[in-house]
Amino acid sequence: MNDYLEPALKKNLNIAVVGAGLSGLTAAIHLLREGFQVQIFEKDDYPKHKVCGEYISNEILPYWNSLSIDPFDWSAVKIEEFELTSFSGKSLKTGLPLGGFGISRYNLDFRLAQLVREKGGLWTQDTVERIQFENDAFEIYCRSGKQFSSDLVIGSFGKRSVLDAALSRKFFSNKTPWMGIKAHYKADVPVNRVSLHAFNGGYCGISKVEKERVNVCYLTHLDAFKSSGNLKGFQEVVLNKNPYLKSFFDEAQPLFEKPLSISQISFQPKELINNHILMCGDSAGLIHPLCGNGMAMAVHSAKILSESITAYATQSQSREWLEKTYTNNWQSAFSSRLQAGRVLQRVLQNETATNLGIKSLRLMPGVLRKIISLTHGKPLEV
Ligand SMILES: Cc1cc2nc3c(=O)[nH]c(=O)nc-3n(C[C@H](O)[C@H](O)[C@H](O)COP(=O)(O)OP(=O)(O)OC[C@H]3O[C@@H](n4cnc5c(N)ncnc54)[C@H](O)[C@@H]3O)c2cc1C
Repeated sequence: MNDYLEPALKKNLNIAVVGAGLSGLTAAIHLLREGFQVQIFEKDDYPKHKVCGEYISNEILPYWNSLSIDPFDWSAVKIEEFELTSFSGKSLKTGLPLGGFGISRYNLDFRLAQLVREKGGLWTQDTVERIQFENDAFEIYCRSGKQFSSDLVIGSFGKRSVLDAALSRKFFSNKTPWMGIKAHYKADVPVNRVSLHAFNGGYCGISKVEKERVNVCYLTHLDAFKSSGNLKGFQEVVLNKNPYLKSFFDEAQPLFEKPLSISQISFQPKELINNHILMCGDSAGLIHPLCGNGMAMAVHSAKILSESITAYATQSQSREWLEKTYTNNWQSAFSSRLQAGRVLQRVLQNETATNLGIKSLRLMPGVLRKIISLTHGKPLEV
């Protein structure tokens, strides 16, 4: 038995994790290791494709390895280079300061979910519709009519969920114009490179995942999309204006029957604690996808939260202490990164700024690496 397992068991905390994406799954694995009882709720059946660029920064590897998670055991591919192209196809390449890896969410989330089950996590496949906090405990109400109790709830239900509406979270009632589209292709692209291609109204990321598949995922403003009517028209009229994207789509063979899409992607600040639920991953805040750091942030926030919960239980702290500690640690880890993402998003949406930026950065390659570092963290210490 390790040092902190016994006190955690003594407190016999029952922790509900609502949403089994990267943040929820990582938190579940971490908390199971510490000896807590973990019940995870997920509305979907795995394996399942998700809209995501599927490039993950290496910064999380030391932490994941400490939890016995190694994505290379699941055929992840190493990514070391970055390429940026402007609306007109001007290109700039650089080495990634930390590097990363490519792996499909279909594979990754499924494998992590298997680990949660193997380590004793209780799995409930159901949609959580309502969470009530009363008498210092939670009641969790599922769509099936089932009801569960817990001492703590981790809200790891992603960018947008029925629970955001049930909790009257502010961002939910504000419409947003951003939509995301993703598909896998068979195509010839460098295996170790993630590339980002600007177009009018958005940007498109391309990188390899396992089994020689190429993931293509773009974020676009709804107005740019509406003007061309459908996905095919959008590709022809908008995406293909970037010569790099045109030559990619001319050659690539789609592996999905049709691309996946999501809408109403909000980058607005969110409350970190809502009705005493501890928000984690995208439920706590979403960085602009062009930074390629959302998954690393989801995993990092699971680490911060799991460590705060362990300290809360083993030091017999108050709920207020837990909420304050998590909030302070989350903000000091992510506030400046989120801000850098917002600024970069604005630059990349401006054709002149992107062209000028690429021209100047070609003369100062170190500056691009510095900009990438601003949107990423350092390798997570364990
Ligand atoms: C277009 C786009 C491209 C991106 N590309 C990248 C990239 O290349 N690299 C990167 O690092 N990040 C990228 N991101 C960000 C990344 O996808 C997210 O930050 C990451 O998935 C967050 O993980 P999460 O665990 O918070 O949420 P998710 O992975 O979304 O998981 C949330 C889970 O909660 C479940 N759920 C929701 N509501 C309920 C409910 N009521 N009851 C039960 N279950 C529920 C969902 O089914 C889901 O499985 C991208 C994002 C977008 C929009």
